[in-house]
Amino acid sequence: MDTTTGRLAGKATFITGAAAGIGRETALLFATEGAAVAVVDRDGDAAADVVAEITAAGGTAMGLTADVAVETSVAAAIGDAEEAFGRLDVVFNNAGIMLADDGDAQSTEEAVWDLTMDVNLKGVWFGCRHGIPALRRAGGGSIINTASFVALVGAATPQLAYTASKGGVLAMTRELAVIHARENIRVNALCPGPLRTELLMSYLDTEEKRQRRLVHVPMGRFGEAAEIAAAALFLASDDSSYVTGTDFSVDGGLTAAYVTPE
Ligand code: NAD
Repeated sequence: MDTTTGRLAGKATFITGAAAGIGRETALLFATEGAAVAVVDRDGDAAADVVAEITAAGGTAMGLTADVAVETSVAAAIGDAEEAFGRLDVVFNNAGIMLADDGDAQSTEEAVWDLTMDVNLKGVWFGCRHGIPALRRAGGGSIINTASFVALVGAATPQLAYTASKGGVLAMTRELAVIHARENIRVNALCPGPLRTELLMSYLDTEEKRQRRLVHVPMGRFGEAAEIAAAALFLASDDSSYVTGTDFSVDGGLTAAYVTPE
């Protein structure tokens, strides 16, 4: 691993939900591209495993246990990462949950709604709230917020709290992009399509449910976390220097389709 020539050489990055799925793949890729990576997750043991994998390959990483729904936890993690690396250039607010009993307007319990909002929407706000001053101290940087295709199109299988939380992430991302554009702070949303990660596979827990979801994907397959990590790398790096406020879809064509091929 050469930390001097990669697309993120010299950059310090902070990734939430980095112990699994998209976050884990992104942490590994960012480290390969020369970044120092703060691997942040509520599951500290799993985060430590990702850190061990990165350092064994010659990369730079630190593990931080934090719950993105708790402001003091997010503030402390950002402070620790900035202190350890001497700066922060990229904040990837990626941690999110999709609860099994998230349903329609009638069936969704208030507790499910509140927990989903606390993690998926308030968690991203806290990451921006404490991440933006850190990026400002570094002279600018990139924030990436993980939304979803459900922020753009309605899904027949209801998960109302999740969908509303991701719509909020997208709207907040656009506004922050506009507010901070002249400070050299870019803010973009990633809208992944359905992925073959633990989060979705435990929700689509039968082959029938999985096939029903794939009917809507022109490419006819689930995406891989590594394919989202590649998009996050673009948004984190200077390759996307004129890109801000976008809803970057990486979804196998899902949101472009009216009718998908057989
Ligand atoms: P995942 O379940 O594989 O990984 C999520 C990680 O986030 C886990 O390590 C988990 O411990 C961590 N996490 C959960 N709640 C946390 C909290 N409160 N504080 C800190 N860490 C927490 O999920 P994934 O599929 O990689 O999803 C990552 C993001 O992508 C989420 O925001 C999700 O909504 C979004 N997304 C996923 C899909 C998909 O199909 N998998 C599609 C669109 C968007």
